[in-house]
Amino acid sequence: MKIEDKLSLNKFDIDREVHIRVDEEKCKECRLKPCLYACPAECYVERGGRVVFSYEGCLECGSCRFSCKKGAIDWVNPRGGFGISYQFG
Ligand code: SF4
Ligand code: SF4
Repeated sequence: MKIEDKLSLNKFDIDREVHIRVDEEKCKECRLKPCLYACPAECYVERGGRVVFSYEGCLECGSCRFSCKKGAIDWVNPRGGFGISYQFG
């Protein structure tokens, strides 16, 4: 089974409150943009030379927080009951 197939089995109860915020001003100064490669769910994408983030498909792995050396990512877990439910976790 491919990783995309496995990820599609996860279920989300998306919180309206955003649990990860990204400081775009710091991103402008970030040359390598490691978050683009660290996130297994591709929540970070590059569009028109800037990083665009969406929290809805977040797997709550925390990789982006550790990849960002500029402290641009404000990361907390979703509120209780919200976020991802793993089928095979
Ligand atoms: S690694 Fe951090 S500073 Fe760099 S683009 Fe990603 S979130 Fe922005
Ligand atoms: S916590 Fe993991 S899945 Fe969520 S945005 Fe960060 S790297 Fe992506």
